[in-house]
Amino acid sequence: MLNNEELAYFKQELEKMKQQIERNLDNTSLEMNGLSDTCPRDEGDHASVERGNSVGNTIITKQSEKLKAIERSLKRINNGTYGICEACGVPIRTERLKVKIFADYCIACREIIEKETARSQNTP
Ligand SMILES: [Zn+2]
Repeated sequence: MLNNEELAYFKQELEKMKQQIERNLDNTSLEMNGLSDTCPRDEGDHASVERGNSVGNTIITKQSEKLKAIERSLKRINNGTYGICEACGVPIRTERLKVKIFADYCIACREIIEKETARSQNTP
């Protein structure tokens, strides 16, 4: 189990990451707004702007997902379930949490889930 000192460390790191992502999201949406403001009403250019937007959307989606994971971890720190595998209830090793700070699962469960995800993606 994590001691108070470790929990404080993870909480601090998570909050730092959260702030950074929130800043990134602000910048990305600002850039996208700037892009559409200068968008020429020309057909050829319009397509390239749309491509640019979809890249921006992908970044925003990825960052939002990460932000959600961070918020989930912060909530779990507050209610005392942080660092415990969601699938089997075993404490996740501190070394693993340091590498993947918002890990929801222990290594064993993660591998099972990844295999299942890969299998379901392969089936048409
Ligand atoms: Zn597990």
